Amino acid sequence: MKGIGVSPGISIGKAFVLKKPEAALTGVLLNNEIEILLEIERFDLAVSHAVAEIESIKANAQLSLQDEELAVLETQIELLTDPQIKADVTQKIENGKNNAHDALVEVIGNFVRLFESMDDQYMRARSADIKDIGRRILNLLDKSGKVTAPEFDPDTIVIAEDISPSDTIAMDIKHVVGFATQTGSRTSHTTIIAKSKGIPAVVGCGEELGTVVNNDIIILDGINGIVYINPAQEIIDDHTIKREAYLRQSAKLKALKDISAITSDGEKITLSANISGADDLDDAFYNGCVGVGLLRTELLFMDRDSFPTEDEQFEFYKNVALGSKNNTVIVRTIDIGGDKHLPYFNLPAELNPFLGYRAIRICLDRKDLFMTQLKAILRASVFGDLKIMFPMISNVQEIRSAKSIVAQAKAELLNNHIAFNADIKLGIMIEIPSAAITADILAKEVDFFSIGTNDLCQYTLAVDRMNEKISHLYDPFNPGVLRLIQKVIEQGHKHNIGVGMCGEMASDPLATLLLLGMGLTDFSMSAAAIPAIKNIIISNSIKKARDIYKNVMEMDSSEKIIAYLQEAAQ
Ligand code: PEP
Ligand code: MG
Repeated sequence: MKGIGVSPGISIGKAFVLKKPEAALTGVLLNNEIEILLEIERFDLAVSHAVAEIESIKANAQLSLQDEELAVLETQIELLTDPQIKADVTQKIENGKNNAHDALVEVIGNFVRLFESMDDQYMRARSADIKDIGRRILNLLDKSGKVTAPEFDPDTIVIAEDISPSDTIAMDIKHVVGFATQTGSRTSHTTIIAKSKGIPAVVGCGEELGTVVNNDIIILDGINGIVYINPAQEIIDDHTIKREAYLRQSAKLKALKDISAITSDGEKITLSANISGADDLDDAFYNGCVGVGLLRTELLFMDRDSFPTEDEQFEFYKNVALGSKNNTVIVRTIDIGGDKHLPYFNLPAELNPFLGYRAIRICLDRKDLFMTQLKAILRASVFGDLKIMFPMISNVQEIRSAKSIVAQAKAELLNNHIAFNADIKLGIMIEIPSAAITADILAKEVDFFSIGTNDLCQYTLAVDRMNEKISHLYDPFNPGVLRLIQKVIEQGHKHNIGVGMCGEMASDPLATLLLLGMGLTDFSMSAAAIPAIKNIIISNSIKKARDIYKNVMEMDSSEKIIAYLQEAAQ
């Protein structure tokens, strides 16, 4: 069965099928005011029990919950106590004379549909939380008992339609070696938690997974997203060998943590991490990063009801600066719009949001917001080696305007006798083709470039990065994209400014030698990708990388380029 491999590793074990609670009593209509009042009371009681259950999971020291798991539970408590859900359910009980079960099913269904229709992938994945709290209240309403934490035998692979966030957290997972679910996505909580616990997981396997019964033998390949059910002995033997090789390889890669990323002919390469806040730093250093090549500041703005104040932002940037142990941190100014929305910032709907009011365009229009962020970053710059980076630059005027606002922010701080690093370095993301093509012009204005291949690829190829239907066209190895990248690196070097890459291509092992051959020396990526890229760098020479680059630039199609790079990798 093919699904999405979301947490790597190979596991072999026995199935434990997590069943959803039985369907409850439905279709009961209430007869009079008393029944209505009692039903509302029954609902309120179930909600308070649900909150108490989650509080008790949170307080259970044996589970040694991580910060992100506690955050999941906090979100659920917030949803459970959301006045809108209560108001909608009460209204359906009062006006529709529905019982609490039916009223809740309808209200939860509406919320789930609302979240699922949102453009933002993160918000879409939150629909799992809504379903989860709905199920929890229904369980309590139907007196079918609490969410029980089943006892697992050693080497258990948990199979379910979807594993709700609180189920995952409440489970005693010391014997769990894998998760496979019918639904789910790369950003769902099952994924986040499986990854944080290092347990292989495959999600989105489809309804066929429902045929699995307890104690079936399962092989779960979280690298390739494959689940085998009662496989033949040779497949088991084959995967036992693969599993051992995978474990050996992971241990080897982890052991590279303190080794510098230097090619076999002595070229030092900088491997930095892409992070969203100070909480990501431990993992980044654990995987051997030497600094932060991209601090996406959007998260600070997303998880709340209003814009963060200058002081709140200052604390956030200061924590990152202090946590970065004097390594460089590139702070990207806010990149909202496109697929990233703020619930409290009413951006008008647009026909082409990725071509619309986003990132630096908003900042130059809403100078008040930009000034607040710049002042907060500047204040934090005395606590570490912070640099500022502007996203979505398409022309030189935007850089000049942004720089003049930085100068104003500095002047204000100076007037108020507030310390900041007057020499803070300023750079831009190169993620729009016009910026790549005019890299020679833009290089004269800034201290560094960082190539954002995620957007550069979508804008160069006219392929929406969110559209699954055309994802086969989203191809960083397209010769057009490669020529733009090569030009940016060349012009950066010619003008003596730093050039890095923080788009996903920097973490693609197939691209590493090609990019090294082009002269790229700064790679920034998600923490988990660093060891594998470092391994490629230390096992190869720049000379070999240059040969590969020369050959690739003579090829006319990405098919040929990819086939050639695959062969070279072997
Ligand atoms: C990019 O576009 O490559 C990039 C790193 O920015 P984001 O993915 O946040 O748009
Ligand atoms: Mg981008």
